[in-house]
Amino acid sequence: MSRKIEIVEVSPRDGLQNEAAVLPVEDRVELIRRLEAAGARRVEVVSFVNERRMPQMAGAEQIMASLTNDPQKRRSGLVLNRRGWDRAVAAGCDEANVVITATDGFGLANQGSTTAEQLAGLAEMKGGPPISVTIAVAFGCPFEGEVDEGVVREIAGEIGRLGIGELVLADTIGVADPWVVRRRLDLVHKAAPGAQLRAHFHDTRNTGLANAFAAIEAGVDTLDASVGGLGGCPFAPGATGNIGTEDLVYMLDRAGFETSLDLPALIETARWVCGKLGKAPVSAISRAGGFPVPVR
Ligand code: ZN
Repeated sequence: MSRKIEIVEVSPRDGLQNEAAVLPVEDRVELIRRLEAAGARRVEVVSFVNERRMPQMAGAEQIMASLTNDPQKRRSGLVLNRRGWDRAVAAGCDEANVVITATDGFGLANQGSTTAEQLAGLAEMKGGPPISVTIAVAFGCPFEGEVDEGVVREIAGEIGRLGIGELVLADTIGVADPWVVRRRLDLVHKAAPGAQLRAHFHDTRNTGLANAFAAIEAGVDTLDASVGGLGGCPFAPGATGNIGTEDLVYMLDRAGFETSLDLPALIETARWVCGKLGKAPVSAISRAGGFPVPVR
C-alpha cells in the first residue's frame, strides 16, 4: 500500500490574506467549492481577525454560512485570540487553527500579544472544535531574526501538555532549509509526543519543496499548501506564498504517494483564482503543466 499524504489547502486564508487585491465573499466561496471539487478534504477557509485590520478576510461568518455541511469535508478557521476562538465556535468551524508565535516580536505585530499571553489564552479555549496549533516563525522571524531551537522545543512542550492533537511547524517567512526542518521536527516530536505533526512552508527563497521533502522523510504525513502558490507575508517585503498545491501534488503523484487531489483540476483552479486577482500563478506546474502530457 502506498503512503497517504494529507494536504491542508490554505489558499482561501493564508493565500488571499496576503494578496493586495480583495476578493468578494462570493469569489472566496467559489474558490473553496472548486478546491473541494478538486479533492481537498481539509481547507482553511476563513480567518477570524479584525476586518478593519485585514479587509481581505472580511465576512468569515458569511463564508461559513455559505458552505453546506459535509461530513467528508473539514473547514478550518484561523484563530489569533479569545475573540477569534468565540467567533470560530459560533460560526461552526470543523476545526480551529490557533497561532502561537515563536517570538514576542512577531506576536505583538501579528496579534498584539506575547507568546506567554497566547499560551495562556490557548489553555482557556475549550468546548469547541478540535484545535490545531501553528507555531509561527518557527524557523526565523522578520523582527527578531534567528529563532533558537530551544525556544521552539519549549513552546511545543507547553502545547503538548495542553493535550493539543495537532501541532504545525510553520516557516512563516520562508527561511528554513531541509536539514533544519528535519532537526526541528524531531525535537518537536520529542517535546510533544502526543501530537500529530504537520508542516507549513513558504517558498520565499526557493526551498519550499525541498523542505516539504524533508518533512515527509521525517515522517510528517500532513502538509499545508496553497493553490497557485498564492500569498506572501505582510511583514516580509518580497515574500512569496506557500508552496503551490499543484507543485506539491505533482511531486507526490510522480513518486507514487496518494493524495486526494486531482492535478488538472488544481491547475484549472489556480488559473481561475489568479485571473480573479489579476496575476499569473507563481507555481511551476501551473505554467509547465504536468507530465506525461496528455495526448490530444
Ligand atoms: Zn503562512
